[in-house]
Amino acid sequence: MREQISVLEVLQQIDMELSELEVHLTEYPKKISAFEQELQSSKESILSINNKKEEFLKVKSELENELSQNEETIKKSEERLFEIKTHKEYQALQKEITETKRMNYDLEEKLLDEMEKIEKLEAQIAEKNEELANKENDYQEKISDYKEKLEEIKIVYEPKVEEKVKIVQTISPELLPLYEKIKTKNGEVLAIAKNEVCTGCNMNIPAQLFNEILTLSRIIQCPSCKKILYCEEESNSEAETE
Ligand SMILES: [Zn+2]
Repeated sequence: MREQISVLEVLQQIDMELSELEVHLTEYPKKISAFEQELQSSKESILSINNKKEEFLKVKSELENELSQNEETIKKSEERLFEIKTHKEYQALQKEITETKRMNYDLEEKLLDEMEKIEKLEAQIAEKNEELANKENDYQEKISDYKEKLEEIKIVYEPKVEEKVKIVQTISPELLPLYEKIKTKNGEVLAIAKNEVCTGCNMNIPAQLFNEILTLSRIIQCPSCKKILYCEEESNSEAETE
C-alpha cells in the first residue's frame, strides 16, 4: 500500500503541474487574441474616419465643380452683356449674374465648412495613426512574448501528459476512480496524518483509525475531508523509536 501511496503522490504532483500549465494554455491564447483584437479595432476605427473623410472630399469636389461651372456662366453672361440691345434684356441678364454670384457666395461658405471638417478628420487620423503605431510596437512585443511562452509550455506539457499516462497504468484499478473522485471534489487528494490530526483539514483522527494509517493495511480516507491519509515515513520511524 505504501508503494501505491507513493505513486499517488507522484500522480498528484504531475496533476498539479499539468493543471497549472493548462491555466496558461487557455490564458495565453486569450491574451494574445485580446491584443490582436484591440489592434484590429484601432485599425477599423481609423478606416471608418477615413471613409467619412472620403465622403466629405466627394462633397467638396462637387461643390468645387458647381462653383467653377457657375463662374464660367458668370463670365459668359458678362461677355453677353455687351451684345445686348434692349434695356430689359440687359436688366434680366444682370439680375441672373447677381443671383449666380450670390449662389457662389453660399457655395464658398459650404466649401469652407467641408474643408474645415476634412482638416479635423485628418488631424484625428494622424493622431490615431500615431497611437496605433505605438500600440502596435508594444502589443506585437507582448504577443510574441506570449507565443514564445506558449511554445515553451507545449514542450513541457506533452511529455508530462505521457508521464501521467505511464503512472496511471501502475495504479490499481479500484484506486484510480477514488483518486479522480477526490481530485474533482477537493483538488488535493492526499493528506498527511500527523499526531492523530489530518493536515488536510486539521480534524482529529480517531486513535484506532490512526493506527491503521500507520500500518497502511488499507486505503483510509479522512472522515471529514475524504482525502487519502498517510504518514510520512520519517515521522513513522521517529514514533517507533520514541
Ligand atoms: Zn481531513
